[in-house]
Amino acid sequence: MSENLIQASQGTPWCAWQHSARLARARWLRPEQLCPPGRRLVLVAPHPDDEVLMAGGLLAGFAGREQDLLLISATDGESSHPGSAHWTEHRLRRQRPLESRHALQQLELDLNRLDWRRLHLKDGALPRDEAFLTNHLNQLLKPDDLLLTTWRGDGHCDHEAAGRACAQAAQARRAQLAEVPVWAWHWARPDDPRLPWARALRIQLDENHLARKRQALACHASQVQADDQRPPVLPSRLQACLLQPFELMFL
Ligand SMILES: [Zn+2]
Repeated sequence: MSENLIQASQGTPWCAWQHSARLARARWLRPEQLCPPGRRLVLVAPHPDDEVLMAGGLLAGFAGREQDLLLISATDGESSHPGSAHWTEHRLRRQRPLESRHALQQLELDLNRLDWRRLHLKDGALPRDEAFLTNHLNQLLKPDDLLLTTWRGDGHCDHEAAGRACAQAAQARRAQLAEVPVWAWHWARPDDPRLPWARALRIQLDENHLARKRQALACHASQVQADDQRPPVLPSRLQACLLQPFELMFL
């Protein structure tokens, strides 16, 4: 599915997902069961904001244990507003990483203690750099790591490339892989058979971590606010799906 198609449709609202039997069957897991203290989380975000959309609540739990976290930002997200007079690529390339920075601070992560690597790959062209990303991860990963990224079937070329690269690297390095749907919440139907429900689980977020995730998402102003006559890049329906008291993952 192309990004244009994704954004053209209205999207599946949370109230429809609430009736999903398959979502209801996804088992619950507490964050510390997935990633207990001492276990490293390596998070690969295709674009600045994906770290919050995928796992902002889980990340909030790393406040005070930043040594267990490695954050990799693949692109600077400069292609989110094609043709916009205000949000030019030049402006976005500076703005979006700053938004990420503020968002991580809202999650109360100490950026001085956080290993955060920005790869500056080209937004919208991650499939071209997939082998590079796989190699890069092969050098960083350790066998006990949890490697988290966007789902291989998410419907956005960069999200899918990140998913494939991480899957390869996780297999090579014997790390555990967690794939997170982002745009799938928008285009998929509740109980959609294209989603790998057998691997689905829900990471439980407490109120405090969910509130921090909400604040962190608001920092991504270029994505959540309208641009002149255009609606926000992240539709409000999609935001609502991603601000529930759990984070859905495929393990
Ligand atoms: Zn993205």
